[in-house]
Amino acid sequence: MNRTFRYMTWTIEQDPSTYPEYSATCVTREDSNCGETIHACGPDWAEEWMRRHTQDTGHTRYRRTSADYVTLAPPGDTGLIIPGEVAQPRALPAGDDAT
Ligand SMILES: [Zn+2]
Repeated sequence: MNRTFRYMTWTIEQDPSTYPEYSATCVTREDSNCGETIHACGPDWAEEWMRRHTQDTGHTRYRRTSADYVTLAPPGDTGLIIPGEVAQPRALPAGDDAT
């Protein structure tokens, strides 16, 4: 029995209802790791928190991470894809918008 596997292109897009989140942990070593952390905030606030922490403590080394939410949209048409391929954002249909 032969089997045919078809791959469909799904579009990965950043979820427009959320913002990327940033976290930062002070990894300055003196006697031990400081470990002060700020979780899940915007990039501007993460930078401001690090500035303030450095101003208060003199600590200058941080581990910063970011995360975002994405959605997968079903394919508009079928076709072969390379695993891991990220499709380009789809264009809005032209026409009906009379604004
Ligand atoms: Zn610190």
